[in-house]
Amino acid sequence: MKILVTGGTGFIGSHTVVELQKEGFDVVIVDNLSNSQKWILDAVADISGVKPEFEQFDLADQKLTADFFSRHNDIVGIIHFAAYKAVGESVAKPLLYYRNNLVSLLNILEGMMVHNIPNLVFSSSCTVYGQPDELPVSEKAPIKKAESPYGNTKQISEEIIADTLASSNLKAIALRYFNPIGAHESAKIGELPLGVPNNLVPYITQTAIGIRQELSVFGNDYNTHDGTPIRDYIHVVDLAKAHVIAVKRMIEKQMKNNFEVFNLGTGIGYSVLDVINSFEKVTGIKLPYKIVDRRAGDVEKVWANPAWSNTELGWKAERSLDEMMDSAWKWENYYAKKNNITTKKR
Ligand code: UDP
Repeated sequence: MKILVTGGTGFIGSHTVVELQKEGFDVVIVDNLSNSQKWILDAVADISGVKPEFEQFDLADQKLTADFFSRHNDIVGIIHFAAYKAVGESVAKPLLYYRNNLVSLLNILEGMMVHNIPNLVFSSSCTVYGQPDELPVSEKAPIKKAESPYGNTKQISEEIIADTLASSNLKAIALRYFNPIGAHESAKIGELPLGVPNNLVPYITQTAIGIRQELSVFGNDYNTHDGTPIRDYIHVVDLAKAHVIAVKRMIEKQMKNNFEVFNLGTGIGYSVLDVINSFEKVTGIKLPYKIVDRRAGDVEKVWANPAWSNTELGWKAERSLDEMMDSAWKWENYYAKKNNITTKKR
C-alpha cells in the first residue's frame, strides 16, 4: 500500500517515512527541498533498507500537483507535512505563508477528490490552542485567535479540511503536535535547521558543539516553577509512530467520524531550564546561556492532555526528556562529522 508523504525529507516527515517503511508501507515523497536536503533519502534508505520514491516539486503549483496525481493512481493515503513553519518569518512574510501552506493543501485536496484518495493525515499544531484556559489542554479546548500567520494557516487548514469533508467522502485525521524534538536512534536523521535555529533544542545542541556562542533564554519572569515557559516536548520518533497508527486507523476503517483530531504530546510540561538541565546531565556539558527579554508571541505554558490519543489511537509517547536530549546531541555530532564541521566542543 502506497502512502504519499509530502515534506517527507523534513524533520518529522523523514522519521515518519522510516516508521511507515518498517510497517511495510510503500512511500512516495514529494518535497521541494526548500527546508531539507536530498541526502536524507539515502539516510532513510540506510536505516530502513528501502529508498523511498521521490519527486521534487512545489505542491503550491496546481498544474504540477494535478499532474503528479494523474501519474500515481496507487496512492491509498496522504500524510501532509509540507509547509513553512517558522513563526517569526510568518509575521514578516504573511502572504508567503498563506500562499504556500494553504494553496498546497487546496491542491492536495483537489487531487484527493479527483482521484478518489479518501485518507488524509494532516500535520497540525498545538498553536491552535494559544494560551489555553485550562491545563492540560484537551482536543475539546476552544481554538483561540492565532498568535501568528503560521498558526493561522494551521487553523484555516483544519477549517478547509472540515468543509471539504462535509461535502465529500474524504476522511481526515488532524494531529496536533506539541513540541517535537530529538532524533532517530541511529543518529542518521534529525532536525536540520536552515541558518540560525528558531527552536530551543537545535539552538542548545549547536551552542554545545560550538556553532553558536551562547543560548538566549527568552524570559524568566513567567508564572512557572522557575520563571521560564513550559512546553510539552515529545520525541520525534514517538510522534512519527502516531502517524502510522493514524494511517492504519483510516485504512482499516476504524474512525468514529470522518474528521478526527488528536493531541500528540506526552502530558508532561518542562520549562526551558528543565530542558537545559536535562541536556547538561545527559551530555556532561555545561551550556553557556543568558536570560534575555521575553520573545514576542510566546505563550507561558502549554502541555497536552493525551488521554484521547492514548485510548482511541492506542498510542502513547514513551521516550523521556533525557532520551530526547541524548538523541538530539548524537545527531548534532553525527551531522558535524559528516560535514567536516570544525567545532570547538565544550
Ligand atoms: N526558547 C528560548 N531560546 C531559544 C529558543 C526558544 O528560550 O533560543 C524558548 C521559547 O521561549 C519557548 C521554548 O524555548 O519557551 C520553546 O520554543 P520553541 O521555539 O522551540 O518552540 P515553540 O513552543 O515556540 O513552538
